Amino acid sequence: MDASPQLRRVTPAFGELREAAAQLERDIAAGPIVPHVASQEIRDYLSSRYDFTQPRPLDNVIADVEEMLRKWQVHVTHPRYFGLFNPSVTIASVVADALVAMYNPQLATLRTSPAANEIERHTLAWLAGKFGLPGHTAANFTSGGAEANSSAVLVALAHAFPEYRDRGLVGLKKSPAIYLTGGAHHGFLKTARMAGLGSRGLRTVAVDGDLRMNVADLERKISEDSKNGFVPFLVIATAGTTAAGVIDPLPEVARFCRSQNLWFHVDAAWGGAAVISPLLKRHLAGISEADSITCDAHKWFSVPMGAGMFFCRHPEAISQAFESDISFMPEKTAGALDPYSSTMQWSRRFIGLKFFLGLAERGESGYAELIEHQARMGDVLRQALLRAGWRIVNNTPLPLVCFTRYGLDTSKFLKTLYDRQIAWMSEVSLDGGLPVLRASITSFRTTEQDIEWVVREMSKIL
Ligand SMILES: *Cc1c(COP(=O)(O)O)cnc(C)c1O
Repeated sequence: MDASPQLRRVTPAFGELREAAAQLERDIAAGPIVPHVASQEIRDYLSSRYDFTQPRPLDNVIADVEEMLRKWQVHVTHPRYFGLFNPSVTIASVVADALVAMYNPQLATLRTSPAANEIERHTLAWLAGKFGLPGHTAANFTSGGAEANSSAVLVALAHAFPEYRDRGLVGLKKSPAIYLTGGAHHGFLKTARMAGLGSRGLRTVAVDGDLRMNVADLERKISEDSKNGFVPFLVIATAGTTAAGVIDPLPEVARFCRSQNLWFHVDAAWGGAAVISPLLKRHLAGISEADSITCDAHKWFSVPMGAGMFFCRHPEAISQAFESDISFMPEKTAGALDPYSSTMQWSRRFIGLKFFLGLAERGESGYAELIEHQARMGDVLRQALLRAGWRIVNNTPLPLVCFTRYGLDTSKFLKTLYDRQIAWMSEVSLDGGLPVLRASITSFRTTEQDIEWVVREMSKIL
């Protein structure tokens, strides 16, 4: 590489940043998890200090903001945050985000930021290979799983209905319909509205006793709907539902979709990371048949928000959905679509570096260890809860446990749990049932001792 001789790398400065991040980890682990604050208190504080009429020394403002962040947030990187997939973050990924901000590469076109674009392609191709997708698979980083899922809906629409591209849904005689379970992510509801399908375009498939998609019901609904003015075009299976970690029967759904010529999307926003673990990947068998996949880097891959990924085995459908040809953009690169012309975003941040850097640092097996550790902690949590007399009500190999006991008032229980700073977890109602507690392991720093302590303290609340 012939970087200019004057280029002095900023890397040495990151030594200090890494130390600061390590110190922060320790401070957070030793401090409270849940803040006691109302928005009004923060609004009053901000109005009294920041009317922006006078400049202020940057160091002071930074210190003030850090104080606010320490005091006034749920600490999702705390080892006893058993929450909604917000991970602890690797230091490599923190460094990556700072580096990206400093160089501020624009990834809308390939010409402007060739290094950044190729680093992303390289990283995505590696993961596409893990999923068992073919070499020609198209992929891009997204702001998160919701954007990746929206991409799937738009691409599947463009693929199934070529007239949709120019005439929109009003050009269709029948209503396109999407099939998913009640456990699928609710972001699809917003997408259905944005795409013009409306919420009626989402058809809810029944589930079995373990909350997995019932494929017989899928077949039945599709055949009925086809007679009633709908055109089924897309089936969404979830690999790790948000509420209960359920993995739909991917091989059966895949087979059915092939036989009916339906687009098969797998929403593996959280659970998809299991594919790099030799121990866990069998639970995702069938995902290699997907037409498209959503997987978040900012969940189980432990990088800061926002970093999702969208994979699609039909590059021509991507062009159908997103290709745009605008004179003010830099000249095209032959044989490759620019990101602005093959994805939902236009200006594009270098999202992928935080995943690349962590992966390069730890290697595939080091990364798999982070994931397997959390899966093991999920088992530890299940065992500890059972020993303490709790009843577990979900069934998943992923580290997400839904549990309850007779006569439990979940909201009251959680309030005490937060007040005593024991842990953060949430409540959820599965398949329309009574609310139960939900705890998932989302930090690679959560230890067996953390879990045993939390379960002991929980017994004291009862
Ligand atoms: C988190 C999640 C989403 C939404 O992803 P964001 O990254 O929050 O946009 C979608 N589907 C599943 C299964 C999820 O767990």
